[in-house]
Amino acid sequence: MEWTGGCLCGSIRYRASEAPHWASYCHCGMCRKISGAPFTGYVQFPEGSFVWTQGKPSQYPSSSGVTRRFCGDCGSSLTFEADGVLFLTLGSLDFPEQVAFDCHTYTSSRLPGIELADGLPHFSGPVGGKGGRPID
Ligand SMILES: [Zn+2]
Ligand SMILES: [Zn+2]
Repeated sequence: MEWTGGCLCGSIRYRASEAPHWASYCHCGMCRKISGAPFTGYVQFPEGSFVWTQGKPSQYPSSSGVTRRFCGDCGSSLTFEADGVLFLTLGSLDFPEQVAFDCHTYTSSRLPGIELADGLPHFSGPVGGKGGRPID
């Protein structure tokens, strides 16, 4: 199975050699702003398995210790990075339907009318990225 992705205009591309070991949906207001979507999927690949293969993303420090990367040409949101752990946006993957999700986070900020029917665990706040251990 191939794990590749990139931005809408094609100037930024990436590849991962292993399957993701963590994926979660975030319903927080900051992810909503940066993605323009009601909630956002994030995918974490095992350390060392991920490389940028084309282009250099722009970056924005959205809060203390957090960097978000995006394409400076087309604006596609590409990563959320905290404490050195990198998550890719689900929508930037070429085959997002291959990803098995673990949970929903920040559901306290979920928009009214969004019904979650996938049976995954919900957390009102964040969860840890490495291995997905719940923080609250
Ligand atoms: Zn682009
Ligand atoms: Zn979020």
